[in-house]
Amino acid sequence: MSAYHERPRPARYDAAQPTDFDAEHPHAVAMFQDAVRRFPDRPLIHYFDAALTAAELDGLSDAFAVALQDRGVAAGERVALYLQNVPQFAIALLGAWKAGCVAVPINPMNKRRELALLLADSGAAVLVALRGLHESVAAGALAETAVTWTITTAERAHQTRDDPRVLPEPDVAVPAGTTDLAALLDEHRGRRPVPVPLAPEDVAVLTYTSGTTGPPKGAMNTHRNVVFDARVWRDWVGLGPDDVILGVAPLFHITGLVGHLALALLTPAALVLTHRFDPGAVVDAVREHRPTFTVGAITVFIALLNTGATRDDLASLRRIYSGGAPIPPSTVLAFERRFGQRIHNVYGLTETTSAAFAQPWAVEAPVDESSGALSVGVPVYSTRARIIGEDGRELPPGEVGELVISGPQVVAGYWGKPEETESALPGGELRTGDVARMDADGWFYLVDRKKDQINAGGFKVWPREVEDVLYEHPAVREAAVIGVPDAYRGETVRAYVSLRPDHEAAPEELVEFCRARLAAYKYPRQVEVLTELPKTTTGKLLRRELRARHAD
Ligand code: AMP
Repeated sequence: MSAYHERPRPARYDAAQPTDFDAEHPHAVAMFQDAVRRFPDRPLIHYFDAALTAAELDGLSDAFAVALQDRGVAAGERVALYLQNVPQFAIALLGAWKAGCVAVPINPMNKRRELALLLADSGAAVLVALRGLHESVAAGALAETAVTWTITTAERAHQTRDDPRVLPEPDVAVPAGTTDLAALLDEHRGRRPVPVPLAPEDVAVLTYTSGTTGPPKGAMNTHRNVVFDARVWRDWVGLGPDDVILGVAPLFHITGLVGHLALALLTPAALVLTHRFDPGAVVDAVREHRPTFTVGAITVFIALLNTGATRDDLASLRRIYSGGAPIPPSTVLAFERRFGQRIHNVYGLTETTSAAFAQPWAVEAPVDESSGALSVGVPVYSTRARIIGEDGRELPPGEVGELVISGPQVVAGYWGKPEETESALPGGELRTGDVARMDADGWFYLVDRKKDQINAGGFKVWPREVEDVLYEHPAVREAAVIGVPDAYRGETVRAYVSLRPDHEAAPEELVEFCRARLAAYKYPRQVEVLTELPKTTTGKLLRRELRARHAD
């Protein structure tokens, strides 16, 4: 056994509790400006062969903020970022914050229908999109929203190498009122935005999730949430300015936004970006930049196991966390045998601005004897977690119930949805929809889910969104969508439908119908047509019964 295994397990992680984080960095812009002051010339973002220093990022985000202000975009307005992991994401995010705006990151895999929905719900005034992703925008997503200004950018803008992985720009019609980001930044270069006061309670980002139920909602991550959780990552993992973060999680998701970008801005540690998760590009980036830390979902680590990467390639990557989806101990062991690096577990939700629990660094997490699941760790500092029963009362250690969390990383609520906020966050305490158990030593284990959410390797799919699309098909009478076991993703999407009398639709046609309207990870790979879907006597769909068909 290595020394690693001989380390004691903590009863609870009791690192010094920061109490003064509001005073030190009242908002994310202050946090970044601190880094600019300390390390102006350090490369902060690497993207293929290009690098942006902290001072350059400061200047470019100033220019973006000036552009917003010149255009009359006021503090509090929403700026949507429909972008891959490109440096322009950081420029627009910081620029939006400097202008007092709220950033709305949107998954670039989203199709026209999904994009239109999120733009309309957030009431975004501005949309920043990659030119290569502009098709959805051009295809009319904007027609259903109030977006007044679109800005496009090329993923090649910050890249000097002629890289075959970069797709050619599609020939799409650019909507009127669209500006090129590079030209915009050039036009305003050297100008400083009018300072906008920001408070810890101000909303920094709206991150879209369906939470435990219903249609997608914008979780309001405040500046305090973002600064706090960036600190959690830094302190928990023990990172400093000499560290290099490998960006494998998408920046539109809170884990990438906080566990990569905000963490880099705070520490400040350099962040290595590749525009999308491509295992080959990631291995190249690892060889070139020698990152020391990363956090990603299990699919990333499985994909790395399937590359030609060697132990030497990954030698610098000493600190690795996996979150967003369960990681079996067998994958942790396979990764350790192959690369000599131990993956640690971290647990959080969009509503906890990423990390709420984690396996303390270099401490072995126990495995639940009955389910074989690896513990998700212990609550991070300043965070309180309880397990409650159906009646809302707290349960003692060992008993199974819903996990509820409170702490400085828990969101203020959902954008424009006071009722959903009240039911998910009664008294500010988050009902996670995850069913869990705490052992006598304070370690937590996820046991089940109360929510209908499907977890496709960290990408979340809500049955309702897929069912809504199926109902748009003229032949569909009823639709029910569930998650079924999948070797690579953990779970994948499966749909059951019944058809209207005198209508025909082959399963393949329905798969294709969904594929055209939903992001790649959301559309059902399998559709089964039944004469009737199982229902209760009151007509409520029995998803449970459908799931039981796929148990074990
Ligand atoms: P999201 O809002 O996309 O961050 O999804 C949050 C959900 O992902 C949680 O409610 C859990 O169901 C799941 N999740 C997050 N971290 C883990 C983990 N380490 N192990 C298992 N499931 C996780």
